Amino acid sequence: MNSIASPFPDAAAVIVAYRNLNLVGGERVPVAAGLDVLNPATGAVLGQAAASKAAETNAAVEAAKAAGAAWAAMPARERGKRVASAGRALAEHAELVAQVLARETGKAIRTECRGEVAVSADIMEFYSGLGSELKGETIPFNPRMLTMTVREPLGVVAAIVPWNVPLVLMMLKIAPALVAGNTVVVKASEEAPFATYLAAEIVMDHLPAGVLNVINGTGPDCGAALTAHPDVAKITFTGSEAVGETVYKAAAERIVPASLELGGKSPMIICADADLTKAVVGAISGMRFTRQGQSCTASSRMYVHDSLYDGFLAALTAKLDRLVIGDPLDEATDIGTIINAKQAKVVADYVAMAEAAPGAKVVRCGKMPEGAGLSPDLFAQPTLLLGLPEDHPCVQNEIFGPVAVIQPWSDYEDVIARANDSRYGLAATVWTQSLSMALDATSRLNAGYVQVNQNLTIQPNVSYGGFGRSGLGKEASLEAMLAHFTRSKTIVMNFD
Ligand code: NAD
Repeated sequence: MNSIASPFPDAAAVIVAYRNLNLVGGERVPVAAGLDVLNPATGAVLGQAAASKAAETNAAVEAAKAAGAAWAAMPARERGKRVASAGRALAEHAELVAQVLARETGKAIRTECRGEVAVSADIMEFYSGLGSELKGETIPFNPRMLTMTVREPLGVVAAIVPWNVPLVLMMLKIAPALVAGNTVVVKASEEAPFATYLAAEIVMDHLPAGVLNVINGTGPDCGAALTAHPDVAKITFTGSEAVGETVYKAAAERIVPASLELGGKSPMIICADADLTKAVVGAISGMRFTRQGQSCTASSRMYVHDSLYDGFLAALTAKLDRLVIGDPLDEATDIGTIINAKQAKVVADYVAMAEAAPGAKVVRCGKMPEGAGLSPDLFAQPTLLLGLPEDHPCVQNEIFGPVAVIQPWSDYEDVIARANDSRYGLAATVWTQSLSMALDATSRLNAGYVQVNQNLTIQPNVSYGGFGRSGLGKEASLEAMLAHFTRSKTIVMNFD
């Protein structure tokens, strides 16, 4: 393989090098057809990535299958050591990977991209130590028989990732899958594939050929071929609710397990006794304003107690006004661009819908950037929507932009009911100084990841995953590795 050990001079060289390629069987494999990847900040073509069809997708699955037996036979701790060294190598190349990521996602290099690479390497380090936790049980079935369970890898795992946090979401899949003895085919996001390729190739350098493979293409051509492949034993998907449904149907047709990390519309409840300063900071990080709100976990429904409502709004707008929207590569930038024109229109349409609602108010914060070459249509100001009824589409649907709904509340029972009035159930936060209120609210909120007085992103060792239409299964933990990347075999031995 044309190894990553001969480093690329810069991000532009990476994008050129991965033109119309897949990474399959330890090789850079040319693909006949390509698709344009745009620079979200300018709208210009950034590079061309592979547009894999069924034939190229099948080749990747075959390579993963061929590598499977030897990888599964390797002692689990040895697999973990390979994953550990791969994670260290990723950390060594962090700046280059972050530079590529910023160019293709439009996320700001300082506030988002460097952190994403660091978390990705941390996830690898976390999972690398868990090989010895792939334990089964002995069962007291009959004292004259040995009855036990053992954990086995599943086989070829298809890992499908979106564009918003592509590296972290890829690592949450490949690190546990590999340590558990599976081989993997990653389907990169066609909107932002290059950093995924670079990070994966750095990892591949530490693995036998074919254990990890990366392909790119559109959902209907490449993703669908992958989920339909008879040798794919497990599908792990992160993306939208609509595509998640399609992927789950494909898994059902072949009766293979699927884990789904989908969208969200997560509530943030600020109680009368909350620390207002901390809550405002938490609202900005929780809504992921520096990621243009493009986060499944975004605290996009903020329920603020009547007594704090005016102060909260004033402090939040003042802080948001100070965030710099601009060129993702500029170190001064806090907020970059929306991923593409289509998504920018979705965001603008939701805001227009809110503006048209009787009694509603729209507060736009910050200033649109004016830099030369920047495409103004692709930037969006942090926007707060006030005075909307609970059944309004802006309150019910995931907007996936820097748009938060702010709702006052006075009755605790009512706010819990409003927070739970959602088809999603990914995350929730509660802000209070009262332990009893925190215990009560956390037990009643219908969400898979509930935090009190903080708004952290995904953390290794802390199980993460949603309820309802937010998906199925967990990521980021030992529980996730055992539940989603192994199967349990029961063995009963009788030598009587
Ligand atoms: P998307 O669903 O459009 O695409 C995700 C991936 O699925 C892409 O790689 C795409 O090519 C592929 N795909 C599309 N059609 C397919 C098909 N028929 N078969 C197989 N694969 C197919 O999502 P997106 O726009 O890239 O990402 C944004 C969405 O991801 C948001 O809804 C967000 O909430 C969600 N998300 C969820 C989490 C989580 O952990 N819950 C994290 C990040 C993003």
